[in-house]
Amino acid sequence: MAFEEWGDWLSKRFGSRWPLLVALSLVGALAVFAGIPLWQAALGWFFLVCLTLAGGGKAELKDVQTQPVDHSRQSDPLSEITATIGALDMPLLVLDAEANVLCQNPACDRLLGTLPVGTHISARMRSPAVLDMVRETLATGRSNQIEHAERLPSQQVYMVRIAPIVLQMPAGGRRLYLLSFRDISELRRLDQMRSDFVANASHELRTPLASLRGFIETLQGPAKSDVQAQERFLSIMLDQATRMSRLVDDLLSLSRLELRSHVAPEGKIDLAPLLCHVRDSLAPLAHDLGVEIRLHLPEGAVEVAGERDELVQVFENLVENACKYGQDGKIVDVHLRPLDPGPVEVSVIDRGPGIPAEHVPRLTERFYRVSVADSRSKKGTGLGLAIVKHILTRHRARLIVRSELGRGSDFTVRF
Ligand code: ADP
Repeated sequence: MAFEEWGDWLSKRFGSRWPLLVALSLVGALAVFAGIPLWQAALGWFFLVCLTLAGGGKAELKDVQTQPVDHSRQSDPLSEITATIGALDMPLLVLDAEANVLCQNPACDRLLGTLPVGTHISARMRSPAVLDMVRETLATGRSNQIEHAERLPSQQVYMVRIAPIVLQMPAGGRRLYLLSFRDISELRRLDQMRSDFVANASHELRTPLASLRGFIETLQGPAKSDVQAQERFLSIMLDQATRMSRLVDDLLSLSRLELRSHVAPEGKIDLAPLLCHVRDSLAPLAHDLGVEIRLHLPEGAVEVAGERDELVQVFENLVENACKYGQDGKIVDVHLRPLDPGPVEVSVIDRGPGIPAEHVPRLTERFYRVSVADSRSKKGTGLGLAIVKHILTRHRARLIVRSELGRGSDFTVRF
């Protein structure tokens, strides 16, 4: 065994204490040479070796713990961070303690544009509120967040957050901070929609309720013994109560549809008899309005995947709207077209006044009406087309609205 191998073997066996053991053995040998009896020298040698090894275990452990970390073998933390944030789709950038940008991910390039490394954050973000927040975190080391709206190119709302990066290994003595932009535009839009919806629904219910209350007070007071007035007021009250229950029915319908929106319908429905049923059920209304509903059906069955009651609701809504709002045109045409091999289409066409183009994209929003007064006078709730849209979404179908002022409207359902 070469001398170095022998040293290695001793190191493995006795750790860093092996030179001391060798020295002790030499001293023992010298003692025997000097005339000390062998058994005494051996006993002394054994005693000292035991002492050395007992202390050696702890010393070994201490050696391992205090051994300095070899940083040269570890990669640069900034390049690790750059690689990690590059894989994330949330806009992120890393700042140093002077608020200079050290790196940013592609999502951030798309949001703020790319600038050379080392540029101050103020060259990318002009918002004073965000810059103040960054300054505060750099000064205190505490994380912070703030809501920030970008108006261009479109209205987007972000939760901008800055937090210190706690490193296991020093990044060349630098302190690093992560600035993130969480897009909360959709969340804010849903919040806005929810609060608009509650405001609209309560307003729609409050109006007939206030009217009912007024009539009840009149009937209890000034009109107490006026039989003619009582009859008139009771009929108006019945109208208002009916309007309220229509509204509540529509609201319940919408919430039921929302609950089932992700479940595709299972049945197969022949649209021809379904459209005949819709025409028959609306015949009294059409008659009262002086409108003729004309059906144009092809030969044979035209089947789609769907749920009968829901599809009846869709076409009743569309044909009823065509009769009410297109009353002046006198005729409502309903075409069923099986576009073999393409999709099946049902078009409900009236020859009424038409809808101004700016209103068309918003017609399926809840409570959206071209004219509130017109809708109310025609017993509308403003929820009909919202219900239609929900049902069609569940049926994987689309509503296409075309309208020309003075010529009429075409509401086509494409399956
Ligand atoms: P409403 O209960 O008011 O009828 P809808 O959601 O069914 O609510 O329709 C929304 C609005 O769309 C209506 O108030 C009306 O202004 C407009 N509209 C719908 N169908 C037609 C149509 N065929 N012609 C003209 N306007 C229409």
